[in-house]
Amino acid sequence: MSREQQAVASARRAFETGRSKSLEHRVRQLKNLQRFLTERRRDICQAVKKDLNKSEVGVQMYETLGLEEEIGLAVRKLKEWAAPRPVEKNLLTVSDSVYIKAEPLGVVLIIGAWNYPWAVTLQPLVGAIASGNAAVVKPSEVCVHTAKVMDELLPLYLDKELYPVVTGGVPETQELLRQRFDHIFYTGNSAVGKLIMAAAAKHLTPVTLELGGKSPCYVDSKCDVAVACRRVAWGKFTNCGQTCIAPDYILCEPAVQQRLIRELQKAIEEFYTDDPKTCPDYGRIVNQRHFRRIVSMLQDSTIAVGGDNDEEDRFIAPTVLRDVKPDAKVMQEEIFGPLLPILTVNGLDEAIRFINKGEKPLALYVFSDDDKVIKKMRDETSSGGLLVNDCLVHYSVSSLPFGGVGNSGMGCYHGKYTFDQMSHLRGCLIKGLKMEAMNNMRYPPHTAKKLGWARFFVLKNFNFGWIGRLLLLAVVAVLAAAAVQRYHLLEKYYS
Ligand code: NAD
Repeated sequence: MSREQQAVASARRAFETGRSKSLEHRVRQLKNLQRFLTERRRDICQAVKKDLNKSEVGVQMYETLGLEEEIGLAVRKLKEWAAPRPVEKNLLTVSDSVYIKAEPLGVVLIIGAWNYPWAVTLQPLVGAIASGNAAVVKPSEVCVHTAKVMDELLPLYLDKELYPVVTGGVPETQELLRQRFDHIFYTGNSAVGKLIMAAAAKHLTPVTLELGGKSPCYVDSKCDVAVACRRVAWGKFTNCGQTCIAPDYILCEPAVQQRLIRELQKAIEEFYTDDPKTCPDYGRIVNQRHFRRIVSMLQDSTIAVGGDNDEEDRFIAPTVLRDVKPDAKVMQEEIFGPLLPILTVNGLDEAIRFINKGEKPLALYVFSDDDKVIKKMRDETSSGGLLVNDCLVHYSVSSLPFGGVGNSGMGCYHGKYTFDQMSHLRGCLIKGLKMEAMNNMRYPPHTAKKLGWARFFVLKNFNFGWIGRLLLLAVVAVLAAAAVQRYHLLEKYYS
């Protein structure tokens, strides 16, 4: 048996003991995860420093803070999320108990990406634990140091049979994908997303695909360009542009372009000094392969700001490109690096047409003071999320579903959405054995009269609050009594 098979078998066996289902167990594991983040902060930060040159504060701000918030929320809300959720009833079921009960799916496979290696791997795990599942955790091999820390230290805190960590690259992930899971939660690029979905299809396993793509940013001429540029520069150059929801490119009218370049340059200098290479808050490209991929995108575009790079150090300066053509190299795939192309368009309509010609993005950004512009952009485009006059922060709102649409992914998570995503929402209807006469209308022989009653009971919508429901119950009881009486009469008559 391979290491991957062993991990899945162990998680399956542990799940079958039923212990992951108890709410106490879930809360204990979530608290242990919190303790891991607190006690091992140093190891976590040092690993990400080596992998991505992120500062200690940066790791906490962009990775572990959000995780701590999600753990706290799950601990506080778990009872409520796991409780039966009553639903509206129709007249036929008015006296029944009708509700949704979230139940664990079983064994979940979590495949993480490298760009925020803790956040994107452990955040789904928070949901997997909260929803009572077992989970096999596969961190990205690209962040070597992070994967090692996760592999060595996480099992010291969590139930390691229920939540084993499996490290490795493509062959190990493919071996995992040959196993049967009850859900696969994948974060990464769209090309691999298709392989994940194909592997999942063999077992009819449901998937959540958290993918990426080119997230557009429209800057309207009616807006405070200086403020917009600070927010865009922050959204783009944080983690060296290696953020799934980083604004990929800017669309603006030709008259605004020069102002944008000036203000972006100011913001870059303010955040990262005039020598970003020595700035502790400026990251590095994760590896040489990605470095070369990004630098090659500079080929056929004009640099307006930045452009310096150093392969040995995996450093690429925050770079702004001007008058970029739609067929330029930088516009052919998600950049996932610190290059910010500006494309000019003649107004909002052309911007919308341009966006709609591409794949549906993970995020869409609009900077404008004009409600009409904002509404038009919202109503005439589609994207995983929409953010107006800021970048990235929608990710931090646990009450918003986070996820893509079309090529940028399927399914969503954060807060209760993660819990629901990894649960089976089981529809439950609990009926008593009394009031059998009520059911006569559905039993043969089928008659037009019975259909009339069925139409009345199924199609009538009453919503009068609890007083209404009491009245309704009384009416149903009277109708049922009448039906029973009539049934007895008929029986007497025909027997
Ligand atoms: P990556 O190279 O770390 O790959 C992700 C995972 O897929 C890894 O665990 C890896 O082992 C596995 N993998 C890679 N190739 C595979 C193959 N052929 N078969 C099976 N498994 C394979 O990460 P990446 O894909 O470079 O990540 C960057 C992408 O992820 C970007 O497109 C980014 O936008 C996206 N992303 C999305 C989100 C989100 O929340 N939507 C978050 C982070 C990153």
